[in-house]
Amino acid sequence: MKDCIFCKILSGEIPSKKVFEDDLCYAFYDLDPQAPTHFLVIPKEHIASAAEVTDNNSAIVGHCFAAIAKIARELGLESYRVVSNCGEQAGQSVFHLHFHVLAGRDMTWPPG
Ligand code: 5GP
Ligand code: ZN
Repeated sequence: MKDCIFCKILSGEIPSKKVFEDDLCYAFYDLDPQAPTHFLVIPKEHIASAAEVTDNNSAIVGHCFAAIAKIARELGLESYRVVSNCGEQAGQSVFHLHFHVLAGRDMTWPPG
C-alpha cells in the first residue's frame, strides 16, 4: 500500500535487516530496539492492524506465530514476549499489522 512504511520495507524501497522470510511473511529487526533482541514479523499482505483481522484473512496470523516459533528456535530464544499494538492509544505507530518479538531481558507485567 502506498505510504505504508512496512509495505516499503517489503518492496525493498526502505532497507531493513532481515531475520526470516517466506511466501507470506517477513521478519526484520526493529530500528529502535526495546530489548536485546527485538524483531518484527509482518504479513506480506497489507492489513492495517489486529482490528482488521477477519475470518477471511486470519490464517496469516497463525502463520506469523508459526514463523515466530521457528525464528525463536533458530535464535535460541527460550523466553520471549509477542506484542501487537492495536490503535494509537495502545501505541501503534505503523498501520501495517506486525508482531513485536522481544527477548533477552526481564519483562514486567502489566506493560505500560
Ligand atoms: P508500533 O509502534 O506500531 O507498535 O511498532 C512500530 C515499530 O516499527 C516501532 O518499534 C519502530 O521502531 C519500528 N519502525 C518504524 N519504522 C521502521 C523502519 O523504517 N525500519 C525498522 N526496522 N523498524 C521501524
Ligand atoms: Zn503496508
